[in-house]
Amino acid sequence: AARLCSGVGGEAEAAGGAGAMLRHLARKLRASGPVTVAEYMREALTNPGQGYYTRRGGVGESGDFITSPEISQVFGELIGIWYISEWMAMGKPSTFQLVELGPGRGTLTEDILRVFKQLSSVLSKCDVSVHLVEVSPKLSEIQAVMLTGGKAQPSPEDESAYMKGISKTGIPIFWYRDIQDVPAGYSFYLAHEFFDALPIHKFQRTEKGWREVLVDIDPEVPDQLRFVLSPSRTPATQNFIQPEETRDHVEVCPEAGVIVQRLASRIEKDGGAALVADYGHDGTKTDTFRGFRNHKLHDVLSAPGTADLTADVDFSYLRKMAQGKTATLGPIKQREFLKNMGIDLRLQVLLQNSGDTATREQLLHSYDMLMNPEKMGDCFNFFALLPHHRLVHPDKKDKPESKSPLPPVAGFNELLLK
Ligand code: SAH
Repeated sequence: AARLCSGVGGEAEAAGGAGAMLRHLARKLRASGPVTVAEYMREALTNPGQGYYTRRGGVGESGDFITSPEISQVFGELIGIWYISEWMAMGKPSTFQLVELGPGRGTLTEDILRVFKQLSSVLSKCDVSVHLVEVSPKLSEIQAVMLTGGKAQPSPEDESAYMKGISKTGIPIFWYRDIQDVPAGYSFYLAHEFFDALPIHKFQRTEKGWREVLVDIDPEVPDQLRFVLSPSRTPATQNFIQPEETRDHVEVCPEAGVIVQRLASRIEKDGGAALVADYGHDGTKTDTFRGFRNHKLHDVLSAPGTADLTADVDFSYLRKMAQGKTATLGPIKQREFLKNMGIDLRLQVLLQNSGDTATREQLLHSYDMLMNPEKMGDCFNFFALLPHHRLVHPDKKDKPESKSPLPPVAGFNELLLK
């Protein structure tokens, strides 16, 4: 259970939420029949009144799942260095936006901004702003406390951001509900454990062809949900299953596809890069839909709204949805990416600087969590979208000798170039 983020709601609140959400879903299912897994997941996670993220948010040690930035500050620091390294490789543009999708408690942004501050002599002439895409009012409040010390203000209705503030390090921060609301401009995007929380459709191969998995009310047990198969093909089966598919069970996340298309279009038009980190596979896995509550696996259909629901990210689908507008790199395993980013050196420095045994043990423990292949080292992956010219000189084919080589992209091994 690497899905380790922190919760803000107690058990009593969880139970209340569960009842209300289940009643709401049961009414809906009785009135209009079974719903897709995507619709169920969307309701359970982000329903404006009762959704898991809307009400609780679950990230962190006291919550339902813990994430890498919550485990170690080194994680965010190395990601901050990745952005600075790309900013330099791209010719130090005079301004950039750091755009984070699903910032959780805001810890990752906090760690990145600390690096920006420490390297302020390098960034001194660059105008940096932070743009957070967050649907959960509860989590946006937590982010505002973490990043601005609670000094964020709601924005007037006619502005695209719903809240704004100034970071403790003096950088303007804006909050939005949707990536489309973020102003155009040269941007570095970040999505850590974001895509796995987006709704998936599930499909099962049967003797009669592909059928979509749906969620229905169990007629035998009151207020209990169950999976059923659609009696015939649904529009989603037609649209999302490739004729050459060899698996018997397939999960597709169209919302992730739409967001990647937007990121790729924005990067193609205005420049920048996107870094996506999540657990996932390259189009090979089948049934990965699962729930987490109190750091334990939780039945996905039980007590909706009280548990985190998640599915592995299909990086092959993300690559396809970039539609060649940008180049893509990865997925590369977290332990390889962090090693390439210099985590070992950073650990040595922190160990040398820490006087007490407890801190040293904590540093070694968190390094092990992030890097151990049995823990988060192998199942988490890094994936990047970059402008084509970042990897290949536009006129390389004509005059291969005339250009100096492009600097390698930090974190990614040359061999993973796709
Ligand atoms: N990146 C953080 C948190 C991951 S949890 C970390 O690694 O610790 C997923 C985050 O995505 C939460 O902040 C959640 O509220 C947000 N989220 C989920 N669905 C979303 C959506 N459709 N649009 C925007 N944010 C969403």
